[in-house]
Amino acid sequence: MTVIGYYDETPSGGMKGNPDFPFVWCCHCQKRTHWLGYVIQSGTGAIHLIGQQNCGRLHYGVDFGGAERTFKQKRDRQRALERLAGIAAASRSAIAEVSALLWTESLSSADLVRASLKSAAPAFYSDLCAHICAGSVMKVHRTVRDHEAERERDRRFEQAVAAFQRLPAAIRRERRDEGLSPEEDTTPIFQQITEQFGQVVGGSFLVDEGDLRGALLALRKALLEAHEAFKAGTDSCSTKHLQALAAAFDRSQRECLETAERFGAAPQFFRSENLNRLAAWARSRDGLVVDVGSSKLAISEGDRQLKTIEAFETLDISALRSSLESIQGTSSGTR
Ligand SMILES: [Zn+2]
Repeated sequence: MTVIGYYDETPSGGMKGNPDFPFVWCCHCQKRTHWLGYVIQSGTGAIHLIGQQNCGRLHYGVDFGGAERTFKQKRDRQRALERLAGIAAASRSAIAEVSALLWTESLSSADLVRASLKSAAPAFYSDLCAHICAGSVMKVHRTVRDHEAERERDRRFEQAVAAFQRLPAAIRRERRDEGLSPEEDTTPIFQQITEQFGQVVGGSFLVDEGDLRGALLALRKALLEAHEAFKAGTDSCSTKHLQALAAAFDRSQRECLETAERFGAAPQFFRSENLNRLAAWARSRDGLVVDVGSSKLAISEGDRQLKTIEAFETLDISALRSSLESIQGTSSGTR
């Protein structure tokens, strides 16, 4: 007896949506009772269908376990091979797209902007990146005079003086002697305030960690490895290794597309609204020189050289995306 196939006739929506959907015949149960099961070939060559869960073991005994395992191993290997073949087939064009992107002007412009900001205002750059990563609101905490509280104190003092004046002279004298007459306090009152400047938008391209260049290089490496393994012949590769190659590709292409998406938001960073927000935040910090122009920002910290960062051309990743999607199409299910 050999397991030669697997079937899954589960209708979309499952049992809930399809209470009357017909089941598949099971040679153990002797009735139509499952949607999932195995195709069995007996020693005489006859083909049977048997339910997935316990029917095989109940019907064929211990032999079934081994047959099921062998079938699953073969199936997993076949799927891994097909998947790797799909990746390898599309790898040439995908690698070309990745390489082209690595040489684009927008990527080198982004590198330049990042380097300029880092060298002109390192502390500001590092705080800015923290806000970009966290998506948090730019804030400045400040200690300022609380004039309102000081006025209120003055009012209370005047009231106390007026009340004191209304007291009989003898009592006033007594109080004065005891040091209980109203005394004016003119020390300044301070309060802590937090100024908020909103969130940074489109700034992901500034962050070193998980940058697009790194993501592209990782994707190119995964594509090359899949391609090389396929070219060298897969007979000596374990199924695990084949699966690991495909998983590395999946991971790196997902990260690459996500990173590229965030990178693509760079024009929003250079919108005047965002630059003005950044400049207001920067000016409220000590020792920063900031000047906002149209789609650009000049900045320096302390006595560092003033650098101007400017908007750059958007990266077009549509070619890479369609290259990768063609690989996705070859992906088989995980069952
Ligand atoms: Zn059954």
